[in-house]
Amino acid sequence: MDTITVRTNSRVEFVEISGPVRKWLKGQGVESGVLTLYVPHTTAGITINEHADPDVVRDLTMELNKVIPFDDNYRHLEGNAAAHIKSSLIGASTQVIVAGGDLVLGTWQGIFFAEFDGPRTRKVHLQLTSA
Ligand code: ZN
Repeated sequence: MDTITVRTNSRVEFVEISGPVRKWLKGQGVESGVLTLYVPHTTAGITINEHADPDVVRDLTMELNKVIPFDDNYRHLEGNAAAHIKSSLIGASTQVIVAGGDLVLGTWQGIFFAEFDGPRTRKVHLQLTSA
C-alpha cells in the first residue's frame, strides 16, 4: 500500500487527484490490474465524476450543502455532523481498472478527493492488484 497526500483549502471541496494518481501508477510498472483508492477519514470521501467542466463539482458541492445543512440540531457534539453524513453518502473508496499501464477513465471522468470538513491535510491510500 502507498499513500498520497491531499491538501484542501475549503470546508467543502472536490480536489481532482487523477494527475498524482497517474504519476504514482507510472512508477509501479504494472500493465494490467485494479487500483483501489481508499480514504481513511470519516469526514471526507472519494468519487469519480466529470473533470472537464469545474461547474459539475461546484453544483455537486452546492446541492450536498443544501441536502445536508451545516447546522440542523445534530446530536454529534464535535460540530461536524454534516461532514460525517456527506462522507457516508459519497463513500470512502473507489476502484479504477488499470490497462496498458494507465487508468481506464472515460474522457470526461476524473478522480476527486471529497473534502467535507476542511481545510486539512488528508490521505488517500492506494493499493494496486496486478491481473
Ligand atoms: Zn465529528
